[in-house]
Amino acid sequence: MFVKNRRIPLKIEQTEALLRNIVQTHSKIPLLQQDLKKRLAGFSGEKAIDYHLSFLSEKKYLIFNDLRLPLPPYHFQIDSLLVTAYYCLILEIKNISGTLTIDPKFNQLTKYYDGVETGFPDPISQAQRQKLLLQRFFYDNNLTMPPIIFFVVVSNPKTILKVAKGQTLSSPYSKMIHAQNLIDEISKLNHIYTKEVASKKDISKIKRVLLNSHEPGYTNILDQYGIDESDTIQGIRCERCSGKMERQCRTWGCSQCHFTSKLAHQQTIEDYFLLIKPSITNKELRTLLDIQSPKTARNLLSSLNLKTTGTTRATIYHKEFH
Ligand SMILES: [Zn+2]
Repeated sequence: MFVKNRRIPLKIEQTEALLRNIVQTHSKIPLLQQDLKKRLAGFSGEKAIDYHLSFLSEKKYLIFNDLRLPLPPYHFQIDSLLVTAYYCLILEIKNISGTLTIDPKFNQLTKYYDGVETGFPDPISQAQRQKLLLQRFFYDNNLTMPPIIFFVVVSNPKTILKVAKGQTLSSPYSKMIHAQNLIDEISKLNHIYTKEVASKKDISKIKRVLLNSHEPGYTNILDQYGIDESDTIQGIRCERCSGKMERQCRTWGCSQCHFTSKLAHQQTIEDYFLLIKPSITNKELRTLLDIQSPKTARNLLSSLNLKTTGTTRATIYHKEFH
């Protein structure tokens, strides 16, 4: 059972928002497009794994997708976590095309594709680290801990997995598998791990703590790419001609082509949350939309059903990301 579903990663939404709003001559655009392509490939790899996982019995497996858990002062992230009464399984998902060569001696992964060789951080070490962090998380939260295992799952069926010349696979490296073998590998685990470690009550506590602890990671994408806010488009743009939209009694009208829209502010506010920060005040909204009336700003904000903190003039409206 998927107890936590996979959503479009925040980083993808942020990169798309940035590409929508950046001045069209900016030198960072090719880099943004390239990074977006990589992130979309990663996300589609993860969704491909969800397809395989959907065949598992609902009763036995709790599946948590895309968990980000705090372990002060840091966080760690798990692509998919399967919790059963007998074991927990971490899946580190890789969507890499070409020929992948694992070198256990140097802990490195090399990709060979279209005549180009590229190095990657060793996914096995990555998954091993996640296992240690998850063990600590269970321990810190007083959770009953079934044995924790991990697989690195390669989602692209055409990817070829190889071992570096002269090297042999030591045990952790046998945990790198193709997605199409995932269900078989899980049934092998069911034969190895037969001791029921966690009771029903333990499992529901694990579920509650994992869901409550998940924290989406919000980072400022402009800072990350070193892009100045002034290099993004200000105000509401017309969806027809990109002209500036102005507030005209209860609606937005384009100053150039006279197109009108009641909801033109929504995308601009969404993009503000993605690009600037996940909260906004009445005053900040008036600057953003270039309007004078606090009452109009308040009406627009309350129509968005956002969580609020503070009262009256000091109200802050919060966008919650998942
Ligand atoms: Zn227009």
